[in-house]
Amino acid sequence: MKFISEETIELVKRVSVYEVADILGFHLKRVGTYWNIKCPNPDHYEKTPQTYISMSTGYFKCYSGGGCGADGNVINFFSWHYYGGYDPKKDFVRSVEGIATLMGIPIKYSDGSISQDNTRPVYVPKEQPKLVEIPAASPDVCDQTYRRFLDLCPVFNEHLEEWLGPKRQYTKEQVEVIGLRSVPKTVDQAKKIVNTLISEGYQIERVPGFTQFLRKDGRLENDQDWYWLIAGMGKYYIPIRDDMGRIIRLRIRTNLEDNKKYVWFSSAPMNKGNFIRRGGAGSGAPVNVIVPSKLMALWQPGTEITGILKVNKVLIIEGEHKGYIVSEFLNMLVISIPGVGNFRDVIPLLKKWGVQEVAIAYDIDAFYDEKKNTGKNENVFKQLVRFGKALISEENIHSELWVWNPRDGKGLDDLILGGKLPIVINLRTNERSNLVLQSK
Ligand SMILES: [Zn+2]
Repeated sequence: MKFISEETIELVKRVSVYEVADILGFHLKRVGTYWNIKCPNPDHYEKTPQTYISMSTGYFKCYSGGGCGADGNVINFFSWHYYGGYDPKKDFVRSVEGIATLMGIPIKYSDGSISQDNTRPVYVPKEQPKLVEIPAASPDVCDQTYRRFLDLCPVFNEHLEEWLGPKRQYTKEQVEVIGLRSVPKTVDQAKKIVNTLISEGYQIERVPGFTQFLRKDGRLENDQDWYWLIAGMGKYYIPIRDDMGRIIRLRIRTNLEDNKKYVWFSSAPMNKGNFIRRGGAGSGAPVNVIVPSKLMALWQPGTEITGILKVNKVLIIEGEHKGYIVSEFLNMLVISIPGVGNFRDVIPLLKKWGVQEVAIAYDIDAFYDEKKNTGKNENVFKQLVRFGKALISEENIHSELWVWNPRDGKGLDDLILGGKLPIVINLRTNERSNLVLQSK
């Protein structure tokens, strides 16, 4: 038995629904960033065509009467048109062959044979459509909108219990000052909050996380068929502040317990054909500037932190809660980065503040042995050491690494909440010592 080669499948997948619909004689009407066509499902009679091909993702979806189920990529489109549905077992191969024949793509098989119509010009793949990125509103606008938004959001008991409980040990004052809030549980609750923001005159367009959805049976070209709502579900929001104390983004603690525990409150265009939303902006991945809550309460949004704090030493840490917890307990300025790849993003801030000392904390075994192969940990460790040493040699900033025994706590927050302190590795001398606390 011979199979179609991966190469041919990939080429076919690069054909857009638009191209195939055009060749098959569909009438394509442009509506904003979508193509409006009639549903490819032969059993679906529509009075008014309400199937759309997204220009940014290249996917299509039927919306007529709530949608007949026809949606997806070019292979799905071809299959719905010719076979009235899509069953991967039955329809994948014949649809790939059908599109290839239609477009003049040679079909290569696993046994080396090629099926090609030589009377046609060879298909040249078109450029993939790019997602249209909408720039986010200014930090001042985001700050004003997010602050009011968080005011309007509920605080559910189960979240308060987590924040005040033994794992986090926030105080009620801290929860207020930081601005931790629960994600609205129902669409109605979310709609009410968003409508309040709008009626009070807050800008929500291009503030990441707010987006417009199309009403059921709504039409893309009718502005009144679109309504504003929030993107993303989850447990609660964690505010992210810039170096001027402005809340510029929100993180969402999701309902998941795997590696997607935290996501951005973001309304960037999604690479899924099933969503139609507009007016939103992406979050990017900014760093979070954190000071102890008594200083944060004094910090006026839009002003430099140096106005209320002499910045000598900064701790850089990865993670959402860790930064807040450690800043409070160690009474220091913390920059929390969203991922280990974002270390370099902090350098402009360090320079601006004239920072002399940087500590880098990362969940790494203090008794880490460079000779032992530990996989991922090893690479992260090397990356941190390289970054720390670059700070010394390129920026003339003293840098040190904070490490600890993972048995004493998984993260630095767990360690400190458990009453212990990390071990400091001086990256200039490689000497190890115990951390000495700055007096409060
Ligand atoms: Zn349909």
